[in-house]
Amino acid sequence: MADHYEVLGVERNASQEEIKKAYRKLARQLHPDMNPSEEEQERFKLVTHAYEVLSDPQSRQQYDMGGNSPFGDMGGFGFGDIFENFFGGGQRGPRQMAERGQDALLRVELTLAEVVTGVEKQIEIDTAVTCVTCLGTTARPGTSAQVCDICRGSGQIQRQVRSLLGNVVTSAPCGSCRGYGQTIPDPCVDCRGQGRTRARRTLDLNIPGGVEHGLRLQLTGQGEVGFAGGPAGDIYVEISVRADEHFERDGDDLSATLEIPLHDAALGTVIPIETFDGSQDVEIKAGAQSGDIVTLKGKGVKHLRHNGRGDLHIRIQVQTPSKLDSKEKELFKKLAELRKSEKANLAKVNQGTFGRGRRR
Ligand SMILES: [Zn+2]
Ligand SMILES: [Zn+2]
Repeated sequence: MADHYEVLGVERNASQEEIKKAYRKLARQLHPDMNPSEEEQERFKLVTHAYEVLSDPQSRQQYDMGGNSPFGDMGGFGFGDIFENFFGGGQRGPRQMAERGQDALLRVELTLAEVVTGVEKQIEIDTAVTCVTCLGTTARPGTSAQVCDICRGSGQIQRQVRSLLGNVVTSAPCGSCRGYGQTIPDPCVDCRGQGRTRARRTLDLNIPGGVEHGLRLQLTGQGEVGFAGGPAGDIYVEISVRADEHFERDGDDLSATLEIPLHDAALGTVIPIETFDGSQDVEIKAGAQSGDIVTLKGKGVKHLRHNGRGDLHIRIQVQTPSKLDSKEKELFKKLAELRKSEKANLAKVNQGTFGRGRRR
């Protein structure tokens, strides 16, 4: 992703006013109404996103600390449930018109291969973005909000009520301005006075390796923009990991079973297997037994919170041939003949090791 400051063509220490000005200029140039080229449309998206991030002091600060990637620093992670937002509710004076956008929860399904090393994913979301015509003010460009003449800007209407205890003053939100203390006589037509418009946006997800099924990643300020230019909500991405046909995960280690023919187990060999790191050689020692484990160091899942990767454990399963042709049968008989003298000895050894396989 390009640097938001570069996208808007402003200095890193630009004031909010300068950022707004730069955005307004670019938005006019690249607005969908101006019949932009595909490249300009892409740029428009980038410009709008950059403005969304930098126009909110909190998300700007976060961006400044974390760099380009939404997961640029570990502080960007959220491991909890969605927390509630609280607005308004009983405070005196006019209500704030701008509201924070809602949080959204998305689910992303990953394959085990994607979890092993991490993956970059793009997902499309339906969301609300700042209206480029009014820049979130909700007023038609060139007009502005006016102080409500019913409540004179206080947002409250006071009434005297007679009761048994004497005269009591009660206050209630002004019905004329809905408690905002101001009215928009000439609302922006492009957003119908909402200060935001619906849009389809592409989210670039940089999912680190080692994420667990059910983990929620928090993308601060990447959700929908609030009413009347309020700050954007957060997006939570819930990770879902599909079970793999061949590999099982246990923490950051992987395991798989490899079936080998009896003669390979007896003589030893090297068998290449397909792993998430491509083809890897598994060394079978002569005399390998079912349940033996060959460990491929560092071929497991990437650790989420520190460097390095888990291991890949290959469990050996020796296959006894069940269909022998006459020539093979002959050879096995010969082999049996050859080993007859050691038979008694072998039986003793087998008894000793029976049931002490290294199966996990
Ligand atoms: Zn508007
Ligand atoms: Zn009013």
